[in-house]
Amino acid sequence: MNKLRHIFKLGWAYKVKKAVRLSYPPYQYTIEPTNICNLECDFCPQSDPEHKKRRPAGLLTEENLILFLGKRKKIRPGNRNINFTLDGEPLINKKFPRFLELAAEDGLFSIFASNGVLLTPEMTDRFAETGPFCVSIDFASDKMVFETIRGKKGNFDLIHKNLLYLIKKAETNRNVHLNINDITSLSGGASADSLIKMKELFPQNISSRVRFYSRQFHNFCGHLEFEPNKTHYRLCPYPWVQMAVAYNGDCVPCCRDTSARSVLGNVFSDEIMNIWNGQAYQQLRHNLLNGQPELNAACKKCDLPYSGAEPRWGVEYIYRSLVRR
Ligand code: SF4
Repeated sequence: MNKLRHIFKLGWAYKVKKAVRLSYPPYQYTIEPTNICNLECDFCPQSDPEHKKRRPAGLLTEENLILFLGKRKKIRPGNRNINFTLDGEPLINKKFPRFLELAAEDGLFSIFASNGVLLTPEMTDRFAETGPFCVSIDFASDKMVFETIRGKKGNFDLIHKNLLYLIKKAETNRNVHLNINDITSLSGGASADSLIKMKELFPQNISSRVRFYSRQFHNFCGHLEFEPNKTHYRLCPYPWVQMAVAYNGDCVPCCRDTSARSVLGNVFSDEIMNIWNGQAYQQLRHNLLNGQPELNAACKKCDLPYSGAEPRWGVEYIYRSLVRR
């Protein structure tokens, strides 16, 4: 399907028709290489012992990725991207470089988030030869802040070195795209000042393929024990846009459901459209349309429907997520 036609159809179904059964396939796809991580960051469900009990640890296999990519190709979505992010650190899966190759063979642009610990210069060189990709890595302007809320002792310098190499590589290789996210706001620091300070840790006048952001934190699916301010409800767009798949093929409503609280089908044993318009997906959309996210296990404590003031609802964010990707 043509990209703009796909965006128009999903916009119409979400905004105007408020449909629960959709005439188009998912626009964005995210599939999880693994739910295992090598860090336990303060803000991540990975640091919650209960989280690990909810899902057995596992790895996506090459055969299952090929199966999934074949099913995705068959329904011809307008979007040519694939996201390799859900739970866990993708580079823990030794097959991850092969996954990027398979995506590139299908003409896809790979997107993933990494903590950057394993993204060594050798790995960057390998990825850059494979095909186009964009990696998002969290960092901070201050070593102590970073190593307190994220990573382990020594990680700041290690990740800084890996980021410097990625920046250098992006200068000469058009396949390399990098987002560096400042996470200082989690420690209560001022994001705008910290972002300026963090940029100073890197060379100036670098490739436009390298971008810096302040990280917006969210409550995943209720990992953090706080009640959102429920004064203004907004309809979450994810179930009209994205299909997120866990390493074992289980489909969940969005990339926030890292605990797979709402399983809507299994893409390794069923077709994408059967799941997308299946009873479970329709009920999930129906509950959100009724303003009752609490009826969906995944959405129960999610802060997204009550985050109306955040930039994610703005035109620039929507353009970045739908058109530019
Ligand atoms: S409300 Fe939250 S958990 Fe539910 S689909 Fe939207 S982003 Fe995901």
